[in-house]
Amino acid sequence: MQAVPIADPTWNTTFPHRVAPRAQEWLAGVLLRCDEANGWDSGATITYLLRTTQVTKEVKKLGLALAAPVLDLHTLAGWLAVSEPALRATTYQAELARLYANPTPHIHLLDMGGGFHFCLECITEERMLRRTLVLPHIRCCPLHHVQLQSRCSCLERARPPETDIPGLDPLLQMIYEVGVAQRLFSPGKKPMTCRRCGLDWADFPRLKADPERLILEQKILAWYDFFFKGTRGVLTHALRVINQTLQQRHKKSVKRLSGRTIPVTFSSPERTSLGHLVDVLVSLELTPSDVETDETPLLWWPINRQTFYCPVPACPYRRPTDAGGDEKR
Ligand SMILES: [Zn+2]
Ligand SMILES: [Zn+2]
Repeated sequence: MQAVPIADPTWNTTFPHRVAPRAQEWLAGVLLRCDEANGWDSGATITYLLRTTQVTKEVKKLGLALAAPVLDLHTLAGWLAVSEPALRATTYQAELARLYANPTPHIHLLDMGGGFHFCLECITEERMLRRTLVLPHIRCCPLHHVQLQSRCSCLERARPPETDIPGLDPLLQMIYEVGVAQRLFSPGKKPMTCRRCGLDWADFPRLKADPERLILEQKILAWYDFFFKGTRGVLTHALRVINQTLQQRHKKSVKRLSGRTIPVTFSSPERTSLGHLVDVLVSLELTPSDVETDETPLLWWPINRQTFYCPVPACPYRRPTDAGGDEKR
């Protein structure tokens, strides 16, 4: 965290205490750390930000897994004195834009399904919400091997807290009532605390992860890694491999990650959510090497860990001097 001296000319254009996005951090975590660094209530930063765009109706569709148009990341980058691509990299915007060949991919393509949850160890160590938290089917922290958590023990015994809080900023009230934000932001409380009793997230009950679940989630994460480096060609090829596999095995239904056996049906690639796709691939016990072929240049590989070559002009992983991602492997 960097404090800005009052004599500094940036005092008028940035926050008094600035936070910078970290590698693999999720946008929601940056917003909450910004609240915390400045001593504000949970949700103050996102409320300031949403007020700049004046599109309150769009707040109902707020999803922080992507850079939603309602969230002006250019303005936030200015307030935090960081680059806009660095903030975009806290979402999956660039990855989904490349994979679906659509600069404004729909949030449903990365449906969080189970809602918001976090790793207590990541919070305890560095107040960190990782981007992987938003991925469908992920219930454990891949780093700390613990179950992700979302409920304070006080909520087991009580009705959910009232959402109609007297005197609450109407915009924050609206954010509070929307999807994942219900658990992310605790109006009137400190950031990263229980919205009912105010207990810090780091002090929530700890839940050990099931070793078998961890192995399964490694397979799931391998697929996400694969798709996040891929283009539209990867998506269509994966669907083709699924259809061929079902034909070879004379199957129409597959036992899914949920435990239920469901017929496998896909609409067009651009309407197939990544969570659904990964569910079917893992359930069929396919691995990325089954989809990877030498025939088509499907993936855009990093030349080194810091550089990523991608055909999407707004990709935050693109090297500034890169002419168009022609250095693929
Ligand atoms: Zn963790
Ligand atoms: Zn509580």
